[in-house]
Amino acid sequence: MQKIKEALLQTDCAYETYSCKGLRMRLLYLSIAKHSWLVKLIEGLTVVALKLHLPISFLFKKTVFPIFCGGETIEDAKKWFEFLEKKGINAILDYAIEGKQREEAFDRALKGKLELLKAGSLYKACRYFEFKVSGIAPINILEKLSAGEKLSSQEAERWNRAIKRIDTLLNHAIKLGYTVMIDAEETWLQPAIDSLAEEFMDKYNTKQKAYVYTTIQMYLKKSPSFLEELISRFKKKGKKMGIKLVRGAYVLKERERAKDKGYPDPLWETKEQTDKAYDNAIITLAENNDVSDACIATHNLDSIALAWQIYKSKDLSPDSFWMAQLMGMADFLTCNLARNGLPVAKLVPIGPVKEAIPYLLRRLEENSGIHRQFNLELEMIKEELRRRGC
Ligand SMILES: Cc1cc2nc3c(=O)[nH]c(=O)nc-3n(C[C@H](O)[C@H](O)[C@H](O)COP(=O)(O)OP(=O)(O)OC[C@H]3O[C@@H](n4cnc5c(N)ncnc54)[C@H](O)[C@@H]3O)c2cc1C
Repeated sequence: MQKIKEALLQTDCAYETYSCKGLRMRLLYLSIAKHSWLVKLIEGLTVVALKLHLPISFLFKKTVFPIFCGGETIEDAKKWFEFLEKKGINAILDYAIEGKQREEAFDRALKGKLELLKAGSLYKACRYFEFKVSGIAPINILEKLSAGEKLSSQEAERWNRAIKRIDTLLNHAIKLGYTVMIDAEETWLQPAIDSLAEEFMDKYNTKQKAYVYTTIQMYLKKSPSFLEELISRFKKKGKKMGIKLVRGAYVLKERERAKDKGYPDPLWETKEQTDKAYDNAIITLAENNDVSDACIATHNLDSIALAWQIYKSKDLSPDSFWMAQLMGMADFLTCNLARNGLPVAKLVPIGPVKEAIPYLLRRLEENSGIHRQFNLELEMIKEELRRRGC
C-alpha cells in the first residue's frame, strides 16, 4: 500500500496545464477556503448579491470558475479534453446549471445538455455524462414524492414531463456512446431519485453493461444496507447495476435540516465512520463485480489506494471498475492513476458562469475547514511551485 501511495503523490504530471500564475491562484483559493468563517461570509454575500441582481458573475469568472469548470461552452473546454485524452484520462461531462424551477428553464436545460452531448461526442475522452434530476424536474415534486405524498393532477402532469425529459436525455446519450450517471442529492429528494434511477437502470442496463448509474452517498447511515439490497435485487433481475460511490456533498445542509425539523441526523456522526463505510463499499462492489459497474468517485488518498490495490489484485476490467475526481480537485491523484494505467475520469462541468454559481459555492463549502485531503492538496501545489522555482 505504501508504494501505491508514493506513486499517487508525484506532482510533476498533475499541474502541467497550469502556469505559475494559475498555480498561485489555486493556492490563494485554497488558503481562503481553509477558513470556514470566510467561506460562510462569501456564501452569505453571494446570496445577497444574487438577490439584488448585482453583477457578481465576473468575480467568479476571474477566480474560482476556471479552477472548477471547463468553460462556458464546449469550445472553451476543448483544451481540457485534448489534455485529458493525451494523458489517458476520460472526461465526465456535466452541464452545470442548477437551481432553476420553471418548465421553460427545464426545457432549456435539457436542450443545453443535448447540445453538449452531441458536441462532446466528437472527443474520444468524453465517455461519461452526469446530471442532477433536480436540474430538469421540480424540487417540490421530488420532495412530495420522497415524503410519500400524493400529487395533484397538475403536479402529476409536470412529473410526467420531467420523466420524459430524463428519458430523452438518457436515450440520446446512450445512442451517442455515453454512460450516464444520475447524481445523488439531499435526503428529502433522494427517495424519488432512487426509484427513478432504478427504473432507468432496469430500462437501459444489460447483463454485460450498466449504461445508467445511480449514486450512493456513504455518509448516510442507511447506505451500507441500501447497497446490499440493490445488489440482491439486481442479482435477481439478471442485469448490471451502475453505482457511483461518493461520500456525500451536503453535510452542513443535512445536519441543519435534521436539527431544525427535529428528526434524527441521517449522517454518520464522524468522518472516520463515513470513511469506514466508504472503504467497505469499495470492497463490496469489487466482490460483486459480476452484477455491478462501479465508479469510485473520491479524492481520498486511502480510498483511492485501496481501489487501486483491489483493481489490480482482482484483475477487474476498466469499464466495470474505475475512479473519478472533480475538476480542480486532487489533480495529482487523477494524473498519477492514469500514468500507472488505472482507469480514471475527471468531471468537467461546463456552462454559463452565472448558472454555475451554486455548484461553485458547493465546492468552496466542501473545501472549507481543515481536512487532511485539503492540506495535502495545498502541500502538493506548494511543492510544485518550489519544483518549478516560481
Ligand atoms: C466524480 C464525482 C461525482 C460526485 N457526485 C456527487 C453526487 O452525485 N452527489 C453528492 O452528494 N456528492 C457527489 N460528489 C462529491 C462527494 O460526495 C464528496 O463531497 C467529495 O468528493 C469529497 O469527498 P472525498 O471522498 O473526495 O474526500 P474526503 O475529503 O475524504 O471526504 C470529505 C467528505 O467526508 C464526509 N464527511 C466529512 N466530515 C464528516 C463528518 N464529520 N461526519 C460524516 N461525514 C463527514 C463528507 O461526505 C465530505 O464531503 C462527487 C464527487 C466526485 C469526485
